[in-house]
Amino acid sequence: MTEIETRVLRPDAAGIAEAARLLGAGALVSFPTETVYGLGGDARDSVAVARIFDAKGRPHFNPLIVHVPDLDAARRFADISGPVEALAKHFWPGPLTLVAPLAEGHGLSPLVTAGLDTVALRVPAHPAAQDVLRVFDGPVAAPSANPSGRISPTTAAHVLAGLAGKVDAVLDAGPCPVGLESTIVGGTPLALLRPGGLAQEDIERVVGPLKTAGDTITAPGQLASHYAPNAAIRLNANAAHPGEVLLGFGPMQSDLNLSVTGDLIEAAAHLFDHLHTLDAMDRPIAVAPIPNCGLGRAINDRLRRAAAPRT
Ligand code: AMP
Ligand code: MG
Repeated sequence: MTEIETRVLRPDAAGIAEAARLLGAGALVSFPTETVYGLGGDARDSVAVARIFDAKGRPHFNPLIVHVPDLDAARRFADISGPVEALAKHFWPGPLTLVAPLAEGHGLSPLVTAGLDTVALRVPAHPAAQDVLRVFDGPVAAPSANPSGRISPTTAAHVLAGLAGKVDAVLDAGPCPVGLESTIVGGTPLALLRPGGLAQEDIERVVGPLKTAGDTITAPGQLASHYAPNAAIRLNANAAHPGEVLLGFGPMQSDLNLSVTGDLIEAAAHLFDHLHTLDAMDRPIAVAPIPNCGLGRAINDRLRRAAAPRT
């Protein structure tokens, strides 16, 4: 990815307005939450979300947490009821992420949910995060603002050390107070998917005992493997065999193309939509070779999982 100039914004009215404007323009803005600094992009904009994965150099498309200002905003994107609703009412805003079924007409990019039918939502308590979310007035996908495999950032200086040149702006409101990632809870029955800044005991006081992730999902990579098309998938195909539909990349004849110009960010932005569309055609899917660099690694990882034999 070409390097861009990373601006540092102050958490005053002008800085917040600029952060919201940038998000609306599809740019990436790092902002503080009470847990760690997040790397934010408009969760409805697949290109912005693809740029998040690109900036972090993530080798997998694991689902991202979507940040909203309050429970009412969360309800636009997920059906929140039962014990999940009880937790939202009790602990939001705060360091708790809740996974819930996607709502009808949610409008989120399928890259945010990694093609799953659930979404992870969080209402951060940090005033700067609250201000950005209210002024932007839309869902913000935000993993921690560090290169993949590095330590989560708790200051703007940490963000700049890892991601300067890769994000459009950092909103600097000082160090994050919690410094641990949010606790993630979801599923039926309710399970602890990731321990974090809110203690399991506090959650269990409200909803009773949680299952632990060992029984369900152990790692983001495994979780992402839950979405697999029904159709058989053949990789590294230069042309379709009879009966197959072809998912192309770069200038070529194909049924659908991830990016005619061979742009990996555009390809990532189209990946889940195109797989869903081709899967609905009920024919085997052939996929053109994708270069294994930059976002191509995450695309190939996802395609390999989709092509692996099912049990
Ligand atoms: P990060 O973006 O690094 O804060 O990580 C987000 C975490 O949320 C990962 O561990 C994901 O596996 C988890 N997550 C996001 N969406 C979902 C979902 N729909 N179901 C279960 N876990 C999720
Ligand atoms: Mg992280």
